[in-house]
Amino acid sequence: MPEDYTIAFLGLGHMGGPMAVNLVKAGYTVAGFDVVPAALDAARAAGVPVAASAADAASGAAVVLTMFPSGRNVLDAYQGSDGGPGLLAAAAPGTMFLDCSTINVDEAREAARLAIDAGHRSVDAPVSGGVVGAEAGTLTFMVGGDPEDFEAVRPLLEVMGRRVVHCGAHGAGQAAKICNNLILGASMIAVSEAFVLGEKLGLSHQALFDVASAASGQCWALTTNCPVPGPVPTSPANRDYQPGFAGALMAKDLKLAVNALQSTGVAARVGPLAAEIYDTFAAKGGAGRDFSGIITDIRDRSDGPDGAGHKNQPANVAGGAPGTALTTTANSAAQDDGSPE
Ligand code: NAD
Repeated sequence: MPEDYTIAFLGLGHMGGPMAVNLVKAGYTVAGFDVVPAALDAARAAGVPVAASAADAASGAAVVLTMFPSGRNVLDAYQGSDGGPGLLAAAAPGTMFLDCSTINVDEAREAARLAIDAGHRSVDAPVSGGVVGAEAGTLTFMVGGDPEDFEAVRPLLEVMGRRVVHCGAHGAGQAAKICNNLILGASMIAVSEAFVLGEKLGLSHQALFDVASAASGQCWALTTNCPVPGPVPTSPANRDYQPGFAGALMAKDLKLAVNALQSTGVAARVGPLAAEIYDTFAAKGGAGRDFSGIITDIRDRSDGPDGAGHKNQPANVAGGAPGTALTTTANSAAQDDGSPE
């Protein structure tokens, strides 16, 4: 049985809603709140007890968990805005402030400093695994904070997630998240450019997949979230790029990565370019599509809006050649079911 204390769960959106439901199902006492009435109603209908305000929820809680869109939301809620009381002031001394939002590393460190200065405890624990992972309780949590605080929140995180990794001091969870997504965003662009180049060169998608998935080009973007339909039947490319991990979220996370690259003085080139590419993709209709839809953008820029070059590929290009006794198939490499977001 979970310990007998209340968790104020603030931010009951796409991620927070199902995460709160999983805590309730596991037997925790939850007081939920969201500034959007529809989110509050949906959580209530799903069995999450709700409070009259964020401050009300926080005042009786041992843990204040936030799942907000941005760092600004987190800092404003902690400190209070528009004259309203902040969560830090409303909570009893020693309350654990657990922020699961994806925000700037600097903002996460600032949030931790504010919480500790106010006599509380603080942990940043952004997630990957997306809405599907939030619903299934299979998220990955990347945690920053003191070891004893990590151990204190671990049981809660294990209810909502499958993997819980202590990454280091305050802000280290956010750092791990944006570093991972920098790799992911850039590698998806590279994989997509390689497939479009292969199309131009008359190489079938399956042949490129069979080689690269078993060679040094192997990566999650290729073997799990393959940007062309066919080689990995479960990838979003097979369902017209329904997310998955939405382009808007990749654009957001890469902006956070670029902020960190700049504030630390890293002489990066690929990261800022990748951020710009996803920003354009999101602004031009890709916001709600899986980020692997970036391949369609690359094709459009290569061929003009009609994608003529892709249509002109040899008949066997998209589907791949039939197998023979000598054909190498590397589909086993595609069995990793992980989700980035
Ligand atoms: P969302 O917009 O669906 O939900 C955020 C909720 O926070 C909204 O309902 C909003 O009304 C509420 N909120 C904002 N300020 C508040 C306040 N002061 N008090 C109470 N509620 C407040 O966003 P989401 O998709 O659930 O994402 C939440 C966070 O998780 C983001 O930081 C996002 O980057 C991160 N994330 C999202 C995904 C995903 O697939 N959606 C995956 C990984 C990480």
